[in-house]
Amino acid sequence: MPYILAIDQGTTSSRAIIFTEKGEIHSMAQYDLQQHYPKAGWVEHDPMEILETTLLALGNAIIKGNVAKGEIAAIGITNQRETTIVWDKQTGKPVYPAIVWQCRRTAALCDEIKASPLSAYIQEKTGLLPDAYFSATKIKWILDNISGARERAEAGELLCGTVESWLIWNLSGGRHISDYSNCSRTMLFDIEKLCWDERICNELGIPMQMLPEPVPNAGEYCCVRSGIAGIEALAGVPICGAAGDQQAALFGQCCFLEGQAKNTYGTGCFTLMNIGEKSLRSQNGLLTSIAWNIGGKTTYALEGSVFNGGSCIQWLRDGLGIIKTAPQVNELAAEVEDNGGVYLVPAFTGLGAPYWDAYARGLLIGMTRGTSKAHIARAALEGIAFQVADLIDIMEHDTGKKLLELRVDGGAAASELLLQFQADLLRTNIDRPIMLESTALGAANLAALGAGIYKELSDIESQRLTEKVFAPQADAALMRGLYAKWHEAVRRAQAWEKI
Ligand code: ADP
Repeated sequence: MPYILAIDQGTTSSRAIIFTEKGEIHSMAQYDLQQHYPKAGWVEHDPMEILETTLLALGNAIIKGNVAKGEIAAIGITNQRETTIVWDKQTGKPVYPAIVWQCRRTAALCDEIKASPLSAYIQEKTGLLPDAYFSATKIKWILDNISGARERAEAGELLCGTVESWLIWNLSGGRHISDYSNCSRTMLFDIEKLCWDERICNELGIPMQMLPEPVPNAGEYCCVRSGIAGIEALAGVPICGAAGDQQAALFGQCCFLEGQAKNTYGTGCFTLMNIGEKSLRSQNGLLTSIAWNIGGKTTYALEGSVFNGGSCIQWLRDGLGIIKTAPQVNELAAEVEDNGGVYLVPAFTGLGAPYWDAYARGLLIGMTRGTSKAHIARAALEGIAFQVADLIDIMEHDTGKKLLELRVDGGAAASELLLQFQADLLRTNIDRPIMLESTALGAANLAALGAGIYKELSDIESQRLTEKVFAPQADAALMRGLYAKWHEAVRRAQAWEKI
């Protein structure tokens, strides 16, 4: 039976997971990645370390799984999105460290873009709202600030790409491509015409010859070259699928139908909804991206994120010290029947959609002499669910459709209390699968499709097994009351830093 290998190159680590044809994990390996903060608000990675940790993870997963040459049928790649690398076409040497998605160095430039006519054009063409997260202004920064970079880029000597592009170029020995889902996070890509947008590239001064060739999310792109130390067993294996991490998770959760959605409860939360083959633009600050393009058909996704999700639980642990480990939050919260009127608005770094208030700050409100740390633990879990409900609300508003079910993954999806509260709030079923590695599984399944191991999406769908469904139980009117109070708490947390 052939194995399928997924590379999951994330913000804090590089991982390799070898899956069986049934979508079960055969072996995996992981190497941490160093974070560099050269100035306040700046975040960088070393592109060579991204590559080396990925190769180490690959080599180790092969050894751990005792996998022989010829047993791996295809490779799929998923990656931290938007992070940008510019490198020399001849030597393969990066001209500057990778500028990570979180890096805010181009925020002022993005404010200028937001105030210009280019802003509306960007939303129309790329589905994004101008922001320093996306790759475009990161490329421009390198060309503007690294001596000789612009001249060399104009002479065709430099290439740029997101992380999957960098890895594929290195693994294949020179194939310069980027999948449509990653392209759609650069702020340079026309998500309707599926090509780089000339006007945006021109206005930002980005020579188009340095951009990768956009490719679908599944298909035989290229093969791993021979002679890469530690991964000889992979020489000649085709790379057949790629997608940005959130789109890969949507795929891994088998959200193949319009209206299906997933939420990842990680440090932050990412909610993506499959909106089908016709894209739309949000009226409420959500983003539209390409979910995937397979067999000539493009599927779009509407996306919203919560800045502080699981990080609230970390704050209870590290900031307040009321729990020792993240899972303890559930035991503590279960000591009380309800929140006792306490609300935690975790606006530690401002609020995203639908509030978009960079000046909001965290707020704990509603305490009485009877308030205990158990109420605060409960308020923290509920605060995560309220924020996700706010995202789903605007998604329903933008699409005009009620969500039928929410599929979940990520570290904090381990919390039953959180998921039950989420179901009560949304009045929809919450479905937690057995396999929580949705991101890597999504990349593996894209590769399996690209390699022809699976013929149809329905071949994959039968693999997804539900571990537990959380159905709405609490009284709807009671939940509406709690939700209204949450909105009042949010109102009081807003604009705090401006006062
Ligand atoms: P990321 O990929 O963003 O680093 P993960 O998906 O690994 O995040 O999730 C980690 C988060 O999940 C942490 O913020 C942690 O506080 C939270 N978490 C982990 N286990 C639990 C649990 N049992 N209950 C609630 N939250 C949890």
